[in-house]
Amino acid sequence: MCGIVGYIGGDQAAPLLLKGLEKLEYRGYDSAGVAVYNGKQLEIAKAKGRLKVLSDMLEEGKTLKGTIGIGHTRWATHGAPSDINSHPQVSDSGKFAVVHNGIIENYLTLKNFLTGKGIQFVSETDTEVVAQLLEYYYHKYQCDIFEAIARVIHKVEGSYALGIICEDCPDELYAVRKDSPLIVGLGEGENFIASDVTAILAHTREIYRLNDDEIVRLTRGGVTVYNTDRDVVEKQAVHIDWDISAAEKGGYEHFMFKEIMEQPKAIRDTISPRIRNGKVVLDDITLTREQLESFRRIVIVACGSAYHVGVVAKYALEKMTRIPVEVDVASEFRYREPLVDEKVLVLVISQSGETADTLAALREAKRLGARTLSIVNVVGSSIANESDDVLYTWAGPEIAVATTKAYSTQLAVVYLLALYMGNLLGTISQETYAAGIQDLEKLPDQVSEILSNREHIQYFASKNFNAKDIFFIGRNIDYALSLEGSLKLKEISYIHSEAYAAGELKHGTISLVEDGTLVVALASYLPLFDKTMSNVKEVKARGAYVLGLTVEGKTAIEKETDFVFYLPQTNSMMQPSLMVIPLQLFAYYVAAMKGCDIDKPRNLAKSVTVE
Ligand code: GLU
Repeated sequence: MCGIVGYIGGDQAAPLLLKGLEKLEYRGYDSAGVAVYNGKQLEIAKAKGRLKVLSDMLEEGKTLKGTIGIGHTRWATHGAPSDINSHPQVSDSGKFAVVHNGIIENYLTLKNFLTGKGIQFVSETDTEVVAQLLEYYYHKYQCDIFEAIARVIHKVEGSYALGIICEDCPDELYAVRKDSPLIVGLGEGENFIASDVTAILAHTREIYRLNDDEIVRLTRGGVTVYNTDRDVVEKQAVHIDWDISAAEKGGYEHFMFKEIMEQPKAIRDTISPRIRNGKVVLDDITLTREQLESFRRIVIVACGSAYHVGVVAKYALEKMTRIPVEVDVASEFRYREPLVDEKVLVLVISQSGETADTLAALREAKRLGARTLSIVNVVGSSIANESDDVLYTWAGPEIAVATTKAYSTQLAVVYLLALYMGNLLGTISQETYAAGIQDLEKLPDQVSEILSNREHIQYFASKNFNAKDIFFIGRNIDYALSLEGSLKLKEISYIHSEAYAAGELKHGTISLVEDGTLVVALASYLPLFDKTMSNVKEVKARGAYVLGLTVEGKTAIEKETDFVFYLPQTNSMMQPSLMVIPLQLFAYYVAAMKGCDIDKPRNLAKSVTVE
């Protein structure tokens, strides 16, 4: 994730790159760096921490001379944030410098291959493989930079936006992207690349958008876009007339909406590096089968939406592993003398990896001798560092306070883990395992499909945004999801809402249902569909207005409810990943129609680092 800026022209590159990177700061990052050709060689400057650290080090760029360069703000995925792991990454001889956003999924295979050829690696990043492979092909085939790049992108798997410069051709800047954002800015006697138009709006508003695997060559005098066969691709320049703040949000009105729309990619980035040859491969964890067999219980500890992921995980892990699972709110777990020991696996979930209660719970679990595994979005965060094993969600930085893509990627990791453990323990059949993997791989496209039907939910929100109380009900995994649907709505729209196991409502809370009360009934778990419909009848009989959510084909819901939203069907364990999308959209549209401050809701902070 995060930011790339590249420049070739008549001005000094370093100050301009730093200014451009500043505009990308909203994306979040943990380190920054630039590479500039100084007339003799590539000069690199990198620093862990805020951009200001780098900028102070370079006196706002004045100490680095040269009119071609690339800059980067990093959001670590492979290797902790550090000076060495920062980008640009360079090849063995220092000839090639590369900045990269994304994940090279097969980097380990490539790294082993290159190490076998005697090439020394200095960082822990996946990106260094690109720099090293470029130089390797450049020498091996005695080819030009274009061909080396074309060979590299045929070899690497995963997502990338790359900015590349080479000492041997100091008047050329190259770029290529696949599944990560990158645009080209067109100037007079100067040209640019950037992850996002904001970084270059001060210089130009004419841009090219790039398709996957188009290779771009930028010189001072022009920009040429090629396909991998080196045919020239004719591009239409696009004029950008957004103001800067709209541009930061990629044209969306709020970060939350942008992040909702980014979910297919975030889920894909989290899943696909971990599925190889039809198997779930969790290179990141060292848990053995013997250790797994020794666990009497799994205890999941988290806060807020991460806790709700934990509730889904309870259903998923118990189903796949037959190990009893408990879910606990972190602030409760730590103070109730929890019954955990070395026979218990404690799974902690946190977007930031710094959530104070979750961190304290993790420490308590370790003190009691439990084995710990964390699901975290920030590489090198405290929770990641202190757990025995960590599985990263590759959601990229999340800016909106109300989580969407972090929640979705946490769920994706839970399914991976459930399938992995079930297979290792032999508690699921090979058919279930294989089908589960196939279903998992389909999720990103299914989420895209739901997002493209979002007007339906927008319409429903426009009719109901004045509701005073909303109840979310569901059974089994739908109940787990109703917790998140209700929280999302509360967080950003300030409407009172509650989530109930559908069968539980009649034991008290149904007294609150009156004429016109909105009830959202989640009915995707088909074994209990009829039972949920009975509960819908109960609330309808008290005057409720009901939105029903179920899977395509379950038209029986229409006679019980007032408005229906159908979703594609998947593995029942994974259905929450699809069902959550309309719930996020509903919360978002309702809050937007009420004029709420969606990205910064009142009283809330993004990462809760106090008890
Ligand atoms: N995967 C790369 C790394 O960890 C790039 C991360 C980014 O997009 O900032 O260095």
